[in-house]
Amino acid sequence: MTTPAGHQISTACPLDCPDSCSLRVSLSDGRVVALDGGEANPVTGGYICGKVRRFGERMYGPDRLLRPGFRLGPPGSGEFRWVSWDEALARVADVMREARDRWGAESVLPYCYGGSNGLLTQDTTDARMFRRFGASRLARTLCASTTGAANQALYGKMPSVTYADYARARLIVVWGANPSASSIHLVPYIREAQRAGARLAVVDPRATPLARLADLHLALRPGTDVAVALALHRHLFERGLADDAFLAAHATGADRLRERAREWTFERAAAVAGVDPGAIELLAGLYAAASPAVVRCGWGLERNRNGGNAAAAILALPAVAGKFGVRGGGFTLSNSSAWGVTKTWVGADEPPTRVVNMNHLGRMLTGPAEPPVKVLFVYNCNPLATAPHQNLVRKGLERDDLTTIVFDQVVTDTARYADIVLPATTFLEQYDFARAYGPISLQMVRPAVDAVGEARPNVDVFAEIEARLGLDRPDEPRDELEMMLSVIDGLPEGAGEAIRLDGRPAPPFGIAPVQFVDVFPRTDDGKVHLFPEELDREAPLGLYTFQPDPATERHPLALISPSSEKAISSSLFELVRKTAALTIHPVDAHQRAIADGDTVRVFNDLGAVTCHAAVSPTVGPGTVSLPKGLWSRHTLNGSTANALVPDTLTDLGAGACFNDARVQVERIEGATDREPAAAAEANPVEPADGARVH
Ligand code: SF4
Repeated sequence: MTTPAGHQISTACPLDCPDSCSLRVSLSDGRVVALDGGEANPVTGGYICGKVRRFGERMYGPDRLLRPGFRLGPPGSGEFRWVSWDEALARVADVMREARDRWGAESVLPYCYGGSNGLLTQDTTDARMFRRFGASRLARTLCASTTGAANQALYGKMPSVTYADYARARLIVVWGANPSASSIHLVPYIREAQRAGARLAVVDPRATPLARLADLHLALRPGTDVAVALALHRHLFERGLADDAFLAAHATGADRLRERAREWTFERAAAVAGVDPGAIELLAGLYAAASPAVVRCGWGLERNRNGGNAAAAILALPAVAGKFGVRGGGFTLSNSSAWGVTKTWVGADEPPTRVVNMNHLGRMLTGPAEPPVKVLFVYNCNPLATAPHQNLVRKGLERDDLTTIVFDQVVTDTARYADIVLPATTFLEQYDFARAYGPISLQMVRPAVDAVGEARPNVDVFAEIEARLGLDRPDEPRDELEMMLSVIDGLPEGAGEAIRLDGRPAPPFGIAPVQFVDVFPRTDDGKVHLFPEELDREAPLGLYTFQPDPATERHPLALISPSSEKAISSSLFELVRKTAALTIHPVDAHQRAIADGDTVRVFNDLGAVTCHAAVSPTVGPGTVSLPKGLWSRHTLNGSTANALVPDTLTDLGAGACFNDARVQVERIEGATDREPAAAAEANPVEPADGARVH
């Protein structure tokens, strides 16, 4: 594709971000030279995040994977002998066949997650091929499985309040989310509401940018959100502030919730959460009094042993307080299910093979398993940077009897361990469909340029592997254009036709539904289930319960690893070159004789991370923070926060407990390299000036 300077292409961003921006891509001589916001999606029109503005650096940068290759050096070396696609795919088919013949097809484990949210890039020919092959199945639980389990059980994933309606709210509660980093187009609507007199409350262990602009900030100890949410419920029930008429008409289980909340006084919740009881009481009063009131329930609150119970208790608040039925009132979680997409295009049923929880990758690769994993096929994912218990994952990748295949756009930390690497196209080199999960939108993604190097789209490569394994069938989609048409045909009524006509599809209830006016719970009886029995059975101590903090005397500090404004999980972090810093509160730093910029060791029984310290009150005492998704190059010893994260599971949805890492921090004596600038570069947390931390 040759293009004159100044030529522009309209497309959309399918990366794992709630917003799904429309994009305007500027080209020159067949290359991407700039990215900016397009106008097609009015919610995101006009501007995009700084991460994707730099996407061209990923496409043409030194880490880009340009050709298939076979590893030359030891695992982790990242040295490859470049080969043809034919040779690479022949080897892939051979190792899969050999593993199946000797160990059974379940010895092949596909591992993918969120590198793209596009409907073509995942769960098309890849799923078809692995299902027909009979590979192990993967439970995608790194993120959102916990909040998703709660949302499914309480509301059947009823569509959420969309961004524009936040401008109508009188109270906004941002709970466990940092829109300034990971859903930036929500922020202007919150600011608009504030200008119109709305109050803003933020519940988050960190003084995020929005927390610094809030009327109230509750800096909870990680993992205690459920206690605070139950204290709010107790207040609503005990003070006669629950909406009995709404509950009688639209909910079940309110009495059971009330019973479980009874023990959670403000004082007890405050003691557990490490905040002032008056701050919780203030939030309860604000929430009971305001309408419209909306809760933005984020994913930060799910990343611990109590995450499912926290999500359920928070999502139950608008039902108990009667906040539905008005524009700008209710809750927002994910709108990914709003469209009712069922992926009929996969074209193969799920086999009854074993299911591997992706949080247990390390133990699957190193522990006893029947059959053992002999082929690990990684795509849309960088598990060495993103999965818990990093040292165990690394040990597994070092096994000399494991064949690891990595199909990616760049040479990730995981790819450096791969026996076979395959180069993938980026979303600017292929077709796809971008489905937002913040706003309700569905857009076509179009290629702006030819594939860089020999990169190929996922759809084509998995279809070719399928054919080489003799699993293909006549008259089914075998490349991205055929699969694109199949997806369009399989979209819910009206959406496919609108996409085909280059329009903006909308679901039947519109793109800005009011909860309990335009949309209702998608449960079997259409009601909110405030006490789903299945959740009560699943949670270790039952529904709406609290499991105590895992801290010990040796490892007293709670380590959190929140999203960064520099990257989307680990994607694009390769563009950040400086050493990361651990944010630590001045009191904790003083106790350990740590000064800003010092080199520190963060450790527990699972591992250690050596990095710099950023001393700042943006985290509360007792909490320390390292960015999510760092690469090995960002620390001084090659380990990141995930080396300190246990592979225990959340109470609901079998999710990851990233924020249950408990650590100690010590200054490394004699280290003289003080790099305060590095902290500012790699850390997402902004200065604390004006933060209101209770
Ligand atoms: S990552 Fe999010 S904010 Fe950035 S361009 Fe993509 S959709 Fe927009």
